[in-house]
Amino acid sequence: MANKPHAKEQKRTSGKARAPRVAFVLPCYNEEDALKKTVPKLLELLSALERRGLAHASSYLYFCDDGSYDDTWKVLRSLRKNDVKKSRICGLRFVANRGREVALYAGLVRQVGACDYAISLDADLQDDLSLVPRMLEIARKGEVDVVSAIRKSRRSDALFKRLSASLFYFSLRFFFRVPAENEADFRLMSQNSLRALALYRERRIYLRGLVTRMGFRSEKLYYERQERIGGETKYTLRKMIGLALDGITSQSTHPLRVVFFLGVVMFFGCLGLASYFFYQWFLGETVPGWASLVLLILFVSSLQSLALGVVGEYLGKVFWEVRGNPRYLIEEELPKEK
Ligand code: UDP
Ligand code: MG
Repeated sequence: MANKPHAKEQKRTSGKARAPRVAFVLPCYNEEDALKKTVPKLLELLSALERRGLAHASSYLYFCDDGSYDDTWKVLRSLRKNDVKKSRICGLRFVANRGREVALYAGLVRQVGACDYAISLDADLQDDLSLVPRMLEIARKGEVDVVSAIRKSRRSDALFKRLSASLFYFSLRFFFRVPAENEADFRLMSQNSLRALALYRERRIYLRGLVTRMGFRSEKLYYERQERIGGETKYTLRKMIGLALDGITSQSTHPLRVVFFLGVVMFFGCLGLASYFFYQWFLGETVPGWASLVLLILFVSSLQSLALGVVGEYLGKVFWEVRGNPRYLIEEELPKEK
């Protein structure tokens, strides 16, 4: 689908080419330290983009406080209060922590009808801001609806994270046939694609996969990921495993099929083994020891547990989806200018 200018943009433009209204969308969870540096940097970037005619003066930052228990929200409020243009710093605060994917999703769908382009990025500024002008230039040509930034490498991540991420993306591609790259949710989305995103009703979100699945025309840019600007990573091992499972099960039912074929292979393997044992018995040779038997039982039962686990993971997903609970609840909002 081509990128048609949003109705509001057309109205504001009134014939003359006008800079787009850009929203930077950032999920944040306990980021009081990082935000004190991030916000001034982004405001500086907004001014620079405005001077270059790449962003309209009404462009803004939109933070989604994912139920932080530190002073993230207080810091945001005071930064907004002290800013020359108060409505440049906006956002909402969740009642409780719902995870980064949901926070970012909420922030993005809130931009439907509010801006021309939304650019999502992390609050710790690990993403390379120097890519933003290029993103906007590409988007303004109107040929693509999504501009994704892909990490060239993970040099700034810890060794464990690097290894686990490589393994995860490799298995997504190889075993589960899910197209996946070293993406980091640093992405520009047009109003078109934001509206489409808001139509997706799934509760367990894996945004990178979802945006790819939507199938809008997109362009990729490559960059080196920086060190965190302040604070510490909020991605615990538990959260990473949760994201990996959601990443696989929300995009593909291939694992269910893999388990089925494993079962078939096991069945024929066991048939072969049984014929062999029968042949041995026919020759009058005793079947050696119980070790092989125990091993076999263990093997089969572990395979069954694996199959049950995979089915359970999908069943759990169905459970969450049919309940239809709200993805998040909002405690407070810092509104943007109309
Ligand atoms: N984040 C969030 N909710 C969470 C965990 C993280 O909104 O439950 C935000 C976090 O504040 C940051 C982004 O998601 O803006 C990425 O998190 P982090 O930098 O900790 O992850 P990493 O870069 O280490 O993978
Ligand atoms: Mg980070």
